[in-house]
Amino acid sequence: MVRFTVLASGSKGNASVLTAGRTRILIDAGISCRELFRRMMLVDEDPATLSAILITHEHADHINGLAVTARKLGIPVFFTEATHRAWVRQLTPRKRMTYADWLAEQRRLKAEAEFNATLAETNNETSIGLSDAEALESEEALDAAQELVEEELAETAAAEEAASQPNRIPSRAENPAWLPTVEYFTAGVPFTLGDASISPFTIPHDAADPVGFVFEAEGVRLAIATDLGYIPPNVKAALRNLDLLQIESNHDLEMLRDGPYPWSVKQRVLSRVGHLSNDATGEFLENEYDGGATYVILAHLSESNNLPDLARVTAERALSNHASLLSNRLLIASQHEPMSSIRF
Ligand SMILES: [Zn+2]
Ligand SMILES: [Zn+2]
Repeated sequence: MVRFTVLASGSKGNASVLTAGRTRILIDAGISCRELFRRMMLVDEDPATLSAILITHEHADHINGLAVTARKLGIPVFFTEATHRAWVRQLTPRKRMTYADWLAEQRRLKAEAEFNATLAETNNETSIGLSDAEALESEEALDAAQELVEEELAETAAAEEAASQPNRIPSRAENPAWLPTVEYFTAGVPFTLGDASISPFTIPHDAADPVGFVFEAEGVRLAIATDLGYIPPNVKAALRNLDLLQIESNHDLEMLRDGPYPWSVKQRVLSRVGHLSNDATGEFLENEYDGGATYVILAHLSESNNLPDLARVTAERALSNHASLLSNRLLIASQHEPMSSIRF
C-alpha cells in the first residue's frame, strides 16, 4: 500500500508523509514537532511509526521542527552532506576570527606592549627599558592573548571537524545540531529506504545543495519538486511517468510585483534560484509535462503573493489544453491544514 499526505506546504512550513509498505518517511520537517504530530494524528498517521526523515534543503520552512522530531522519535535523518553541514552551521553560529583579524589583533597587542614599555621608561628614568618583571608581565600578557586566540581558532577548527563528521558529534546536551543518526545521500544517485526507492535530483534554489525527490514503491511513482527558480532539463526528466506530481506554484507574478515584499526579496523570489510562479508551472504543465499523473498537487503557494484560485485556474488552463490531461486530479496543498491522504 502506498499512501501520501501533505501535512503542510508554504513558506511557513513544509512536511509530507509517504507510506510505502512497512516504511513511513517524513519529507521535510518545517513545522514544529508538536504541530507535526497533531497534523499526523488528524489524518490517522501515527508519528511513532515513522521510519526516517528526508530533507530537501536547509531553509527554515523545511527544517524548523527537525531536531526535536528526530530526537523524540530516535529516527535517522537523510540529507546531502552539504545540506547537513549548512544546517549544522545554522544551528551553531560561532564567533569566528579570520586570519586577517588575528594578525591585526597581534599587531595591536604588540603596539600596546611597546607603548607600555615606552611609558615605563619615561616614568622611571633610572631604569633602562622595562624592568625584568614588567617585561615578563607584558610578554605573559601577549602569550596569554595569543593562547586565547589560538584556543578560539582550535575550537572553530574542532567545530568544523565535528560538523564534517556528524556521526562523531559527541555531546547531545550542548549541541543543538545533535541527531540520533545522520545518513547522507547524493543528488542524482538513487538509494533505497526500506520498501521505497528514492531518486534525489538537484533543483535550482538558493540553498547549499537543494533537491527534489522521486519515490517509487509497489509500482507507484511520486515526485516532489518545490523551491526551484525554474525547471531545468534534469528536473523535466525526473518528472516523467508519474502517478503523483507535487509541484510548486509559488506566486502570481503581478501580485508579487505589486505586493508587500521589499524589492530585494522580490528579486530573490523571481530569480533563477527562487520559486516557480503560477505561469512558470503552467507553462511546464502545458508544454513539457507528459500528463500521466493521476494527481497533480500545486504546492508551496505564497500567502502574500498568490491565491489558491489563481494557481488553480492557471494550472487547469494549462492542463485542459491537452485532452489527454483531463483525467489529472488537480489539488492545492495548504499551509494551515493537512490534505486528505492519497492512496494507491
Ligand atoms: Zn527554500
Ligand atoms: Zn520552502
